[in-house]
Amino acid sequence: MNTLAPYAAHPEHSLGRVVTEPPSATRNAFQRDRDRIIHSTAFRRLEYKTQVFVNHEGDLFRTRLTHSLEVAQMARGIARTLGLHEDLTEAIALAHDLGHTPFGHAGQDALNECMRDFGGFEHNLQSLRVVEQLELRYAEFDGLNLTFEVREGILKHCSIKNAKQLGDVGQRFLDKTSPSLEAQLTNYADEIAYNNHDIDDGLRSGLITIDQLSQVELFANNLAEVKAKYPKLEKRRLIHETVRRMINTLVVDLCTQSAHNIAQHQPRSIADIRRLPQLIEFSQKMAAQNLKLKQFLRKNLYQHYKVNRMSAKAVRIVRELFTAFYDNPSLMPNEFQVYATTDKARAVADYIAGMTDRYAIREHRKLFTVEEYL
Ligand code: MG
Repeated sequence: MNTLAPYAAHPEHSLGRVVTEPPSATRNAFQRDRDRIIHSTAFRRLEYKTQVFVNHEGDLFRTRLTHSLEVAQMARGIARTLGLHEDLTEAIALAHDLGHTPFGHAGQDALNECMRDFGGFEHNLQSLRVVEQLELRYAEFDGLNLTFEVREGILKHCSIKNAKQLGDVGQRFLDKTSPSLEAQLTNYADEIAYNNHDIDDGLRSGLITIDQLSQVELFANNLAEVKAKYPKLEKRRLIHETVRRMINTLVVDLCTQSAHNIAQHQPRSIADIRRLPQLIEFSQKMAAQNLKLKQFLRKNLYQHYKVNRMSAKAVRIVRELFTAFYDNPSLMPNEFQVYATTDKARAVADYIAGMTDRYAIREHRKLFTVEEYL
C-alpha cells in the first residue's frame, strides 16, 4: 500500500458498522470486510453464475467469480495509483455482483418482470440485501455487518423510491452527493473488466470476429500497434496482446483524467469528495471510444442469436420457477417457506436469485419432469 491521499477513505475514520464490534487484532476494518465477503456462501456461488456465457458452455469463459476477481485486481491497481484505499476497493469489487441471479442479465430481467407488482428486482440492490440480510452465519447479526463504506460502494445506483427505504446508504441518492473515490473507481474497473473480457470470450466462442471488431476504434488502434510490432503473431497471442493493451489504455486514461480532476478541485477530505461531483472519469475522447465499444458488444455479442437462444431458455426457467414457488411455497426448502409466510414474493425472489445456473436448471427439471422428483 502506498501513501494514502488525505481524501482517501480511512478504516479508522469509517462511518462504522450497524452493530458495533471490537476491532480486529490483525486487520483493518476494510480488510475484515473483504474477508467476510470471501467467506460468504454468496461469494462461492459466483463460480457457477453466468457472466455472458452460461457456465456449462465452456470451461474457459468468465464466470461471475473470475469477473469479480478481475475487477478487484484492476480496482486495486487504480486505487494504488491514485493514493486511495486498496482494501476498500477490493472489498467493494468482490461484493459488487453477489446479488446476481442465475443466467446473467436475462435472469435478472425475468425475475424483475415476475416481481413487477411486488417492488421489482434489481441485482445491485440484491447485492446489498445479501450482505445486509441474507447471509445468516454470524451469531450477533444477520448479514455480514460490513462498514458503511463498503455498503455505499456496493449500491452503485438506486431509484429515489428505493433510496428512501435504505437508510444511510440510500441518503446520497436523495441528497445528490457522491460516494467515496474508491466506490467511484470500482464502478469503472467493473466496466473496463467486462468490456474487455467479453471481447476475449466473444472471440473465443466465435460469436464475434477480429474483422468485425476492427470497426471499433479502441480495438483497431491497439490491434494495429500489435501487428506493427509483431507482424507474424498467431491469433491467440494477437488477441491477448490487443486486449491487454486496450485495458491498459483505458486504465491509464482513467487515472490521468481522474488525477487531473482531483488536482483541479483540491479535495482535502472524504467529506469534500462527497460534496464534489464525481471525480473519477475517462477523458471525453476515451469516454466516446468506450461507448462505441459497449455499443458494439451490445449489438454483436449480447444480442447475438445464439446468446438470445440461451437467454430465452433462461427467462423461461426463471419465470416457471417463480410461478411454481409463488403458487405453492411448500415446494421451497423450509427456511424459505417460513419466510414466505411474511413476504411470499420476496421469499421466492431471494430463493431464485441465490441459485447458481446449474442449480436453477436442476430445480426446474425436478419440478417439471416426472422422472426426476427428488
Ligand atoms: Mg460486474
